Amino acid sequence: MTPKKRIAIFGSTGSIGTQALEVIAANADKFSVEVLTAQNNADLLIKQAQYFTPNCVVIGNESKYQYVKDALAATPVKVFAGEDALEEVAGMDCYDMMVAAVVGFAGLKPTLRAIESGKAIGLANKETLVVAGDIVMRKAIEKRVPIIPIDSEHSAIFQCLVGEGRNKIEKIILTASGGPFFGKKPNFLVNVKRDHALQHPNWSMGAKITIDSATLMNKGLEMIEAKWLFNLQADQIQVVIHPQSIIHSMVQFEDGSIKAQMGLPDMKLPIQYALSFPNRIANNFPRYDFKKVQTLNFDEPDLRTFRNLALAIEALNKGGNLPCILNAANEIAVYAFLKNRIGFLDMTALVEKAMSKVPFIQNPTLEEYFDSDAEARNYTASLIDL
Ligand code: NAD
Ligand code: MG
Repeated sequence: MTPKKRIAIFGSTGSIGTQALEVIAANADKFSVEVLTAQNNADLLIKQAQYFTPNCVVIGNESKYQYVKDALAATPVKVFAGEDALEEVAGMDCYDMMVAAVVGFAGLKPTLRAIESGKAIGLANKETLVVAGDIVMRKAIEKRVPIIPIDSEHSAIFQCLVGEGRNKIEKIILTASGGPFFGKKPNFLVNVKRDHALQHPNWSMGAKITIDSATLMNKGLEMIEAKWLFNLQADQIQVVIHPQSIIHSMVQFEDGSIKAQMGLPDMKLPIQYALSFPNRIANNFPRYDFKKVQTLNFDEPDLRTFRNLALAIEALNKGGNLPCILNAANEIAVYAFLKNRIGFLDMTALVEKAMSKVPFIQNPTLEEYFDSDAEARNYTASLIDL
C-alpha cells in the first residue's frame, strides 16, 4: 500500500480550506492532515484539529493563542501563533504537500518557505503569483517542486496540458462567469452595495474573491497567474465571458485545436485533482447533465465598464512591480468596500491611483516586492482615511 500523502492546509478555515478538508475526509486512506492554519476563526480551527489530529496548528491572531492551546491541551496537537510561526511551520518536515489557501499577499511568505523546503504546492492563493510570480516560479524550478493549480481555470488548463509534452500553446482562453453584474453599466455599478456584490451567480467563495469576481479584478489576477504558471506572453492569454461556468478554461495549440475542461462549478474537483495528481479519484460529486444546461454562451468582456480588468491587463503587459502594486491597492480597496467605506467604482479609482503613484521597478528583488506592497497599501489607505 502506498503511504498516505501528508497535507498541510494553510487557510484551513476558509472556503477552499474547508472544501480541501472535505476531500481529505472522504479519502482518509490516501491523505492525512498534518498542519492546519487560520487567522481568526479559532473555534473552527479547534474543531478541525480535534477531528483530524494534525501534527500542529497555527492561529495567526496571537491574542487567540491561549484559547486554542487550552482547547487542544488534551490532544497531541502542537499549537503556534503569529505570522512568523506560519512561515516556520511551512518549513517543517512533517508534511509533503501544502494547500496554499490563505487569501491575499499574506500567502506569499509561507508558500515561498514551503517551496524552499521542497514541498509540493497545491496553489489556490493566486495573489502569490500575481505579486512575485517570477521569483516563486524560479524557486520552484530550482527546487524541482511541482506547483499544481487549484484555481478552477488554471486547473482546467493544467488538465488540458496533460499528455501534451512539449507541444506549443498558441493561446489559452480563460473563461469568466462575468459575475453578478454582467451586462451592467457604470450608472448601475456606482450604486452597488456590499451585499449585492457578495452574491455570486455560480460559485460560493470567500468575501475577497467574491468581490474580485464582481469587479472582474479576479479575472485580471488570473491572467497574471496564468502567465507565470504556464510561461506565457501576455498576448497569449484571452478572456471570454461564459456565464454558465461549465467550461472552466481552454488551451488552443499550434494546430488550432482547442481542448476544454468541463464540469459543474464545484471547487472540490480542482482541489481533489491537485491532491491526487497525476491520478484521478472516483467521487460522487454532481455531474454536468447536457439535458439540463443545453446552451453555453460566450461573450467579450466589457473592459470599459469593468476597468479593473483593463488595469490588470496593463499590469500584465508592463510587468515589474506593477502587478504587486495593483494587488496591494486592490486588497485595501476591497476590504474598504466590504466595510461599506467606499463605493463599488471607487475600488477601481484607488487601484488606478496607486498604480500611477508607487514608483515602477522593472526587475524587483523580493525585498522590493515587499516594499512596493507596503507602499501601495499605505498610499491607498491614506486616500480613504483608513
Ligand atoms: P477565505 O477568506 O474563505 O479564507 C481565507 C483563509 O485564509 C482563512 O482560513 C483565513 O483564516 C486565512 N487568512 C486570512 N487572512 C490571513 C492572514 N493575514 N494570514 C494568514 N491567514 C489568513 O478565502 P477563500 O475564498 O478560501 O480563498 C483563498 C484563496 O484561494 C484566495 O487567494 C482566493 O483567490 C483563492 N481561490 C478561492 C476560490 C474559492 O472558490 N473560494 C477559487 C479559486 C481561488
Ligand atoms: Mg478562478
